[in-house]
Amino acid sequence: MLSSKLKGRTTWIFDLDNTLYSSSIGIFNQIDLKMKKFISIKLKISEDDSFKLQKKYYKKYGTTLYGLMRNYNIDPDEFCNYVHNVNFNKLSKSKILKDRLRSLPGEKIIYTNANYTYAEKVLNKLGIKEVFLDIFDIKKTGYIPKPMKKSLNQLIKKYKLNPGKTVYFEDLKKNLKYSSSIGFTTIHISNESIDELDSYIDFRFKTIINALDVIIKVLKIEEKNEH
Ligand SMILES: [Mg+2]
Repeated sequence: MLSSKLKGRTTWIFDLDNTLYSSSIGIFNQIDLKMKKFISIKLKISEDDSFKLQKKYYKKYGTTLYGLMRNYNIDPDEFCNYVHNVNFNKLSKSKILKDRLRSLPGEKIIYTNANYTYAEKVLNKLGIKEVFLDIFDIKKTGYIPKPMKKSLNQLIKKYKLNPGKTVYFEDLKKNLKYSSSIGFTTIHISNESIDELDSYIDFRFKTIINALDVIIKVLKIEEKNEH
C-alpha cells in the first residue's frame, strides 16, 4: 500500500540531475561531452578512447571521476569545474515544484554525485534552493559516489537518518538498491515504460511533479483519517 510506505516519513532525499528536472532538458548530455573532452585533453588520448574510459569508470565505480582519481590522480575540483561548466538556459523556475516540495512534511536533502557549486546553480535555476536543508555533494563523501554503500552510509550518519522514516527519489535504479535493503522507501522517477517494478523499488512515477502530487494526496487522506 502506498500509504504505509509514506506515513510518518520525516526525511525526503532527492537526487538532483534527471530527478528534479527532466532528462530531456539535456544538461546531462552536455556534462557527458565535457567529460569526454576533459579526459582526452588530460590523458592525451583520442576522444574515442576517452569516451570508452569514461563509461568504463562510470560503470565500475559509479562516477567517472572516482576512476580518474584512483587511476590517474586527477584533481577533483579541476574535473568538476570543467565538466559542470554547462549551459543552464533550459532550466527555469518552477513554482509548482516549489509548492509541492514545501507541502512535504519534514526535511528535504539533496543527495548528488555532482559538486556543491553545480548543485546550487541547478537549484537556484529551478527556484527551489531554499526548500532544502542541505546539499550532500560528492565532496562531502570524500568523492565516494553512489551507488557505493559507503556513500549512503555517510549520508545516513551525517543527518542521523532513520531509514524507516526516509523516502528517496532517484532516476537511476541502481542507486536505490542498497537504500531499499536497509529500509528506505524508494521512488523511481522514470519515463520508461516498464511493466513490473523491481523488488527494491516501491513506486515509480514519470516525473517528480507526478510523484509529489500523489504523495501529498495520500498524506492528506491519512491525516483526515486520523482526526
Ligand atoms: Mg540522477
